Amino acid sequence: MIFDTGHRSEIRDYYDVITVGGGPAALGAAVYATRAGLSVLVVEKTLEGGQLNLTTYIDNYLGFPSIEGQELAGRMKEHAQSLGTHFLNEQVKHIIINGDERIIETEDGRMIKSHVLMIATGADPKKLNVPGEKELTAKGISYCATCDGYFFKDKDVAVVGGGDTAINDALYLAKIARSVTVIHRRDKLRAVKILQDRAFSNQKIKFAFNKVVESFSGTKKLEEVILRDTKTGELSNIKVDGVFIAIGLVPNSDFVKGVVNTDESGYIITDEFMQTNIPRVYAIGDVRKKSVRQIITAVSDGAIAATHAAENYFT
Ligand code: NAP
Repeated sequence: MIFDTGHRSEIRDYYDVITVGGGPAALGAAVYATRAGLSVLVVEKTLEGGQLNLTTYIDNYLGFPSIEGQELAGRMKEHAQSLGTHFLNEQVKHIIINGDERIIETEDGRMIKSHVLMIATGADPKKLNVPGEKELTAKGISYCATCDGYFFKDKDVAVVGGGDTAINDALYLAKIARSVTVIHRRDKLRAVKILQDRAFSNQKIKFAFNKVVESFSGTKKLEEVILRDTKTGELSNIKVDGVFIAIGLVPNSDFVKGVVNTDESGYIITDEFMQTNIPRVYAIGDVRKKSVRQIITAVSDGAIAATHAAENYFT
């Protein structure tokens, strides 16, 4: 279910709160801020809901034992919209801190002022940066199993990574593909136990432990993956039609580099109220340095930041 994205003509020059990004963190903040009587603009470059739109089924968001990612995204947006949140589909190029003003500049040249800014730009899939990866992306290599899995119906595929995303992807792909090989650099998975148990008991899923990808090869499309054993250094290869890379995330914080403090990986550093080092600039959701990146913690970040802002900057 995808909802109307709002009308550009309604967009004002000023909002009490602007969120850069429109995932669960931003939508959570929007619900709490609008209910506190603040005007809110959510600026999202693609589709509100963020990574929810790339996830088939969510089964760990409280109150929804099983719901499609896109449906949950749509419901969250509808909720924020019903309370009066405005939406703009544009990419934010810069944020400008000019004295008391917090301004966003969008790709299409708009400058919109706010009293409070919330950075909610999330994180994107990390690349392996090995030979052949760039050339064969979309020719057999993908970063989104739910988007591209169907192209590999009854074929042999591999998933790189050992975290929740990789094992979720492997389980999803096992329903479509003939076989799924999980390539992991250690001999223990990082994914939560329930996912591990499901994967280990799935006949279609095999494991290539202690292996890293050395390179990908193929002329017009991916043909094989060259692996290096992390213990012996020995090289081997596997022939697969598709590879799904799921080795973690890179925060989308380049556009605020040098403006707010980040850690060495680019995650924005905040205090317990989600405040960055710049007053009235918050960071919420996956872009923030934190230990648990889940939908429920993203929504919680948004609620905490909006409540703190409403109580401290609008009284
Ligand atoms: P992650 O937890 O950081 O796991 C990344 C995996 O990729 C790890 O197994 C890591 O190996 C491996 N890896 C990292 N860099 C690599 C490289 N250069 N070469 C080979 N392997 C590499 O990332 P994620 O799975 O995307 O999860 C991100 C966050 O989202 C986590 O907090 C996760 O819990 C959450 N999430 C939750 C769900 C859910 O259903 N609950 C679903 C998806 C994501 P090591 O283990 O050796 O470090």
